[in-house]
Amino acid sequence: MNTQELVKQYQEWELKLSAYTLALSTMGFDSRTIAPTNGSAYRNKRNAYLVGEYFSIVNDENILEVMKQLSTKEDLDEKTKRAINYRLADIAKINCIPKEEYVKYDELASISYDKWYEAKHNNDYALFEPYLKETILTKKRFLEYRNKNNALYNLALDDYEIGMTMEEYDEFFSLIKEKLVPLIHQISQKQDEVDTSFFNQKFDIEKQRIFMNQMMNYLGFTKDWGYLSESEHPFTSGFSINDVRITTRYIEDNLISSIFSIIHEIGHATYNHQIDERFDGTYLVDNITSGLHESQSRLFENYLGRSDAFWDNNYQTLQNLFPEQLKDVTQEMFVRAINASCPSLIRTEADELTYPIHIYIRYEMEKAIMDGSMTLEQLNEKWKDLYEENLGIRPDTDTDGILQDVHWSDGSFGYFPTYALGSAYAAQFYQAMRKDIDVDDCLRNNNFNAIKLWLKEHIHKDGGLLTPKEVLLRATNEPFNPNYYIDYLTNKYKKLYNID
Ligand code: ZN
Repeated sequence: MNTQELVKQYQEWELKLSAYTLALSTMGFDSRTIAPTNGSAYRNKRNAYLVGEYFSIVNDENILEVMKQLSTKEDLDEKTKRAINYRLADIAKINCIPKEEYVKYDELASISYDKWYEAKHNNDYALFEPYLKETILTKKRFLEYRNKNNALYNLALDDYEIGMTMEEYDEFFSLIKEKLVPLIHQISQKQDEVDTSFFNQKFDIEKQRIFMNQMMNYLGFTKDWGYLSESEHPFTSGFSINDVRITTRYIEDNLISSIFSIIHEIGHATYNHQIDERFDGTYLVDNITSGLHESQSRLFENYLGRSDAFWDNNYQTLQNLFPEQLKDVTQEMFVRAINASCPSLIRTEADELTYPIHIYIRYEMEKAIMDGSMTLEQLNEKWKDLYEENLGIRPDTDTDGILQDVHWSDGSFGYFPTYALGSAYAAQFYQAMRKDIDVDDCLRNNNFNAIKLWLKEHIHKDGGLLTPKEVLLRATNEPFNPNYYIDYLTNKYKKLYNID
């Protein structure tokens, strides 16, 4: 068959696959936002059935042959070739798992999620523990099917960030630990420097929603391509380039939780939306690495959203909505407060400086889980010990400890480290962007579009065509350099807390 005929077959298959993906993402989004809990058993079973069908389509022998042939064709365009090679590599990761086990695992993941949810709300790790154990054992077995010769955790890390290994992460996290932990300890002794007391008030949720609408407009997250819903954990789900859904959680006595979770998710959503439309429905939309994706959400949330210039444009609106609560709070006080740092137990509510330590702790846990140096019975205590050791605080409930995150319930080991890595990528992108455009001026003068354009041109438009290492090199003219991140945090926080 000639290249054209093969491409036609490949595209027809890709359309079928993307139809299933759309159905599964819609069901997934629905079940985490609006679906009544009592319907979960029914939904989970149908979901697992569709996953089985999806598995068969992905592993269709004929199409595998088509892809293999295409990957060797010299007259195939470079972009399609890359997409096919990424796809083949990912299919190989699943292909080695017996279908029966794969489908069973999907059902386990759904039940495990429900049990995690129940355990978290009842503050009872014992309810979740057997399912977590089963999930870990299955995950390890699947990784062993793939490759017996590599360390299991290296395989898991590569699933979320192509090319990253324990060796590179060890180096990255030891730098973070060495440079940031002492600064965090210094700052915890100087808590009086930044006043955050005005946050301890009630902020009407209806008014929070009004503010979010205005802020979403400012950030260019509009109804013609974006949608905001509510869920336990905020997340983004990209159905297609022009249909990206995000969620948040409103808390009456925590004004900034929803503000920054929405800015964060809009960073993810903008990435998906700004990919070249020619790639819609192809693998180049799906295979963006977690670290790169997180670099965009962190860039929005921290580097842009917590800056003074951002609030030059938005603070007045917020103050007008909450005249009672914010009447004596100047913009300067507000911006200092949203940047305050204090060791805390919950990762998703952590400030920018302590955040990577929460990730470092999870990285150490996952490493030990994967190499078997920690028994599964020790998990809960080990979690508490690591918090005490690194952040000087110890959780006394399971809800504030090991049950806080959803990730392990569906076996997403290797995912956490990309959160810190993404923040570090963001620092490097931010520096490069500032060389080209006046970022503060754009933020101050309601010209967010100029920032979006820069990101589209240097990062977003190619989706997952390039590897993270290639994207960094193209956008910043140098390889990954974690010192931008360390320097950014050190300078910012020393200044904020008057430390020499
Ligand atoms: Zn994120």
